[in-house]
Amino acid sequence: MLTAEAIRQRARELGFDLCGVAPAIGFPELTWLQEWLARGYAGEMDYLEKSADVRADIRRFLPSARSVIVMGTVYNTEQESGTRDQGSGSDAIRVARYARGQDYHKVIEDRLIELIDWMQEESPEPFDAAQFVDKHQVQERVFAHHAGIGWVGKNCCVINPGLGSWLFLSGIATSLVLEPDAPAVDRCGSCTLCIDACPTGALVDARQLDATKCISYLTIETNAGIPEPQRPLLEQHAWGCDICQAVCPWNLGAAVTADPAWHGPLRHGLSAAGLWERSDDELHEVIKGSAMTYVPLSRLRRNLAVIIGNSGNASLAGVLDRPGRGRKNAARSTLTPAVQDAVAWARQQLAGE
Ligand code: SF4
Ligand code: SF4
Repeated sequence: MLTAEAIRQRARELGFDLCGVAPAIGFPELTWLQEWLARGYAGEMDYLEKSADVRADIRRFLPSARSVIVMGTVYNTEQESGTRDQGSGSDAIRVARYARGQDYHKVIEDRLIELIDWMQEESPEPFDAAQFVDKHQVQERVFAHHAGIGWVGKNCCVINPGLGSWLFLSGIATSLVLEPDAPAVDRCGSCTLCIDACPTGALVDARQLDATKCISYLTIETNAGIPEPQRPLLEQHAWGCDICQAVCPWNLGAAVTADPAWHGPLRHGLSAAGLWERSDDELHEVIKGSAMTYVPLSRLRRNLAVIIGNSGNASLAGVLDRPGRGRKNAARSTLTPAVQDAVAWARQQLAGE
């Protein structure tokens, strides 16, 4: 018989740091998504609305599902847990830790498929299985909680008491009946550090994220321009935001991974002005192989313009005239109206208007 313990052991060998099992049932938290959508917190992420029915029931994702195996993979490569790793006035870009390595969708999905292949070799009975990692229509956090991987903190991230919250969540829904783990215990207590530290007020309450205010949404998800009042709040964030995780006490001494997949080429800390002057092809090279390739390159270019505007460094104003070093068509595909609007705004900021 294929046991949960045998799967857990094989998962560790494949590079997963945590592995737990939840029953494939309709946990009440799965219904909260509808209320969250009704409040308009998803903004432009209409794919969430379109897939809400599937996300509400794992048995719509895999009709024969009886168990959900959930994996946590540490992606943190830094020892320190600071929230301000750039000096003010700098144009050094900040990239969320999850995006600094290889594209996790691909790396993790390959590992999940390898685990399913192994399970099929080991199981005396045939079974159904479907993997999920972020891009699939599963509410991973709910199952991670019930599989004992960690509790959902007030910052909406899953926190493991031993490893912290810098975790990729993924898993396998299966028709196998496996021994479930006990759900994780909520250890946030009276702490509100993440809510207090959020620079945009996106954490409107405990476990209530208004994504339309979140820097992750503003830098990655929205295709429209970033609303003007929110541009200064982006500071030097080019891609995502780690603040509400970095301040969490459970990330003091969080696990650090040695997995080469998450030790990517240096993007975090590069100069926004230096990147702005690169051609579209050169910018593509900078993000190649990472999860940053999932959205149009123009969003990164837009964010760079906002960061230059936020730098307070008037000597960078001239750089805004030279996307792609001013070479003809070198930045043509990314100079969208939203980018041009950000450039005009950045010029005003640097001129002190
Ligand atoms: S990621 Fe940043 S902006 Fe979004 S909720 Fe956390 S601290 Fe706030
Ligand atoms: S900072 Fe505090 S409230 Fe926020 S997730 Fe961490 S423990 Fe919970």
